[in-house]
Amino acid sequence: MKAFVDPDLCIGCTQCAGICPEVFSMEGTLAVAQPGELPGELVPAAIDAAQNCPVSAITVSE
Ligand code: SF4
Repeated sequence: MKAFVDPDLCIGCTQCAGICPEVFSMEGTLAVAQPGELPGELVPAAIDAAQNCPVSAITVSE
């Protein structure tokens, strides 16, 4: 699984970085996801962050 933040949608609320800081971090005013394959143990938290993003900017997919 890989995580992606759409920079055109992110409003910089920082929620994803709070829920799953291992994967999401703030870069300036926007969130970015760690590139590449997610370690399996981080996938549930990454999905949780995606589901809690207020603007659905996060995709977690194969
Ligand atoms: S939760 Fe969504 S809107 Fe908020 S910083 Fe993360 S990607 Fe951006």
